[in-house]
Amino acid sequence: MAYAIIDTCTKDNHCIEACPVNCIHPTPDEPDYETAPHLYVHPDDCIDCGACVPVCPTTSVFPVEEVPDDKKEFIEVNANYFVN
Ligand code: SF4
Ligand code: SF4
Repeated sequence: MAYAIIDTCTKDNHCIEACPVNCIHPTPDEPDYETAPHLYVHPDDCIDCGACVPVCPTTSVFPVEEVPDDKKEFIEVNANYFVN
């Protein structure tokens, strides 16, 4: 399992600061930060600690199994961000 961020994310970076393994990107110092519509969780690097959930003011990060039905596409969107 991993976590995934959906499109209600406002890029306030609270989850980046909370994540112990730095698996949420892009970070503000990465080149595509400004153009990214929201942040993404690396599906292999995420250790399922859940630290990103309580710090998110917009309820935009979920365990993949709990992503709302109308937002399931973002599981793949998160994974695809890291494909290259
Ligand atoms: S569950 Fe933990 S490891 Fe995974 S993205 Fe959230 S803070 Fe990072
Ligand atoms: S804490 Fe929530 S709103 Fe803020 S950047 Fe992370 S997922 Fe987006």
